[in-house]
Amino acid sequence: MPELPEVETIKNALLPLIKGKRISSIDILKPKLIKSDIDVFKTKLIGKTFHDLTRHGKYLFFHLDENLVIIVHLRMEGKFQYMHRGDDILSHARIIFHFADGEALVYRDSRMFGLFYLSDEDHYQSLDFVRKVAKEPFDMNENELFQNINKHQHLAIKTVLLDQSVLAGLGNIYVDETLFRAHINPMTKAKYITLEDTIRILKEARIVLNAAIKKGGSTIKTYHSIDNVDGHFQNDLLVYGKAKEPCPTCHKPLKFTKVNGRGTTYCSSCQYKRGPKTIAITGLYGSGKSSVREIFRKRGYLTYDCDAIAKDLYELKSVKDKVLSLFQMNEIDFNYMRLAIRNDANLDKKLKKILYPELKKYVKSIILKQTNRHLVFEVALLFDAKMEDMFDFVIGVKTSDSIREKRLIKRDANKYYEQNYDRDNHFFEHEKECDIIIINDGDISNLEKKLEPIFDKLNI
Ligand SMILES: [Zn+2]
Repeated sequence: MPELPEVETIKNALLPLIKGKRISSIDILKPKLIKSDIDVFKTKLIGKTFHDLTRHGKYLFFHLDENLVIIVHLRMEGKFQYMHRGDDILSHARIIFHFADGEALVYRDSRMFGLFYLSDEDHYQSLDFVRKVAKEPFDMNENELFQNINKHQHLAIKTVLLDQSVLAGLGNIYVDETLFRAHINPMTKAKYITLEDTIRILKEARIVLNAAIKKGGSTIKTYHSIDNVDGHFQNDLLVYGKAKEPCPTCHKPLKFTKVNGRGTTYCSSCQYKRGPKTIAITGLYGSGKSSVREIFRKRGYLTYDCDAIAKDLYELKSVKDKVLSLFQMNEIDFNYMRLAIRNDANLDKKLKKILYPELKKYVKSIILKQTNRHLVFEVALLFDAKMEDMFDFVIGVKTSDSIREKRLIKRDANKYYEQNYDRDNHFFEHEKECDIIIINDGDISNLEKKLEPIFDKLNI
């Protein structure tokens, strides 16, 4: 999807090509792209000459004779091709402006979400859809932006900044880049964004957009704005499209999540989230995760045990039916299941394929309802279930093998020796992705002492 720098690049590339060109005829191959009256569009524009091309946000304004203005939005895949004589028309041509000298301007759009609207100089800026586009970062001051952000208290800052009526010109790529540079977690609720944060957002948005405009925008995947005009800013992106790669600042792997449906890359370590957080406690069985969770609970945090949640999931009809048929049972029998899984790793995999998506859905629903308290989840198989990106902060709990063995024997000697507890726990492979590792090899007061810095950090 073209963003502000790409649209600016298109404008700069097109203007010298179309300036002074007179339209001799128009082919409208896909009438639905034209949102104003089609007959008027055609009859009024024939014989008119292009004088200027301007832009606001991602809207392009083509200025012609007799005060006419064509408003264009490229949406997802809209592109322009300038056709010199003898050029072939490329695929997905939807609207063609033929010029008196035999050349043409072709609008191409594979998905056809684009918009064309004929207006005039006196009215185009007051049209609803144009007027609701806010100022760009270059024209807006921090107090205006702070007020606009604050109108959306309960939304994530990323969602708010994508709203073009709050600030024009930041799309998915440049919001991720701006928030990374401003050290703000994209999921921070707008109500926790301070004036100082806003000043940083504005400053970084300007830097990012200016740099991208200088380099002609980012040509991502197949998007090419206009023939032979490719942006080069993609080489300068710090986080966008780099999930799991090391953060350029702290070298921890960048996280990927969805914020209101939009893919989002960020560093959970460098991008601080003010307000309530979601915390995961993970580690091998017997490492003492429950003791950590219990300390959080006593301090007034809302805590959840994902093993207990998983057990409750068997009550759901959709889960129960699938599990019964997988194990060929009439009723849920945990002992029977445990034995069957022990001898058949494949069965275990299939069971997890049923349980994990439901568990994720359930945990997500709790997180979505989060009010002003920190949420703490104990998730033994965090990495196995690929749930690590759902949390702001991951605590890994470790202990020495001898202490662990003692704990497990105490819990249930038979189970420990009969079952391969660690078979699916990929904790060691992902240890580096934890935000902090707690070595739990002492007593409770020792453990509390080790957690103290985390409580300090969470309550900033
Ligand atoms: Zn980082």
